[in-house]
Amino acid sequence: MKQIFVVEDEKDLVELLTYNLEKEGYRVLSEMDGETALKKIPDKMPDLVLLDLMLPKVDGLTVCKTLKANPKTNHIPVVMLTAKGEESDKIVGLELGADDYVTKPFSVKELLARVRAVLRRFSKAQEGEAVQKFKDLTLNRAKHEVVLKSQKLDLTAKEFELLDYFLTHSGRVLSRDVLLNNVWGYDYFGTTRTVDVHVRRLREKLGVYDKHIQTVKGYGYLFKEEAPA
Ligand code: CA
Repeated sequence: MKQIFVVEDEKDLVELLTYNLEKEGYRVLSEMDGETALKKIPDKMPDLVLLDLMLPKVDGLTVCKTLKANPKTNHIPVVMLTAKGEESDKIVGLELGADDYVTKPFSVKELLARVRAVLRRFSKAQEGEAVQKFKDLTLNRAKHEVVLKSQKLDLTAKEFELLDYFLTHSGRVLSRDVLLNNVWGYDYFGTTRTVDVHVRRLREKLGVYDKHIQTVKGYGYLFKEEAPA
């Protein structure tokens, strides 16, 4: 049974979320302030955290940042609950490593769909499915090789990991910092320029698929399943 940790200070919303998540078969834990949540999450190790931004004591962005900086909890997916008008917080949240967000007011149906999608994406990545496919591009994690139309691509280890990250996060805008932290690691002493250089080389090697990696000006990159013509 998957466990969801809800951090939200609106009591009615906690009840609504708990009721609907439990109905879907999840086990639900909840806390109403950021400080207590930060104490409990590393202990409970939930499968996903639903995180409100405006929280008493410690705010949601700090909670997210703290979870993502802790090697014990950094793999737990975080879905942020943001209010309309918190657009800049949303971007900061994604930069801090949040995995998805839902804007309030949301429909329960939409929220459940997001939770399911994020959990699916994460369990896939965790099980480390040996092979990842995109059209006629095959990435083999066990062999550490990428084959495009039966032609093996000559990728460096970092280019391989970068492509793997793009494929497992397709459709999501990824900031340079998120890429740097997740592909190179938090302790990597480098700049976001490193990311640009590697993306450029990866594009060159991807041939017909180069346009799938799109530049998001002033922010980062996006792997799109449908590339523009
Ligand atoms: Ca709140």
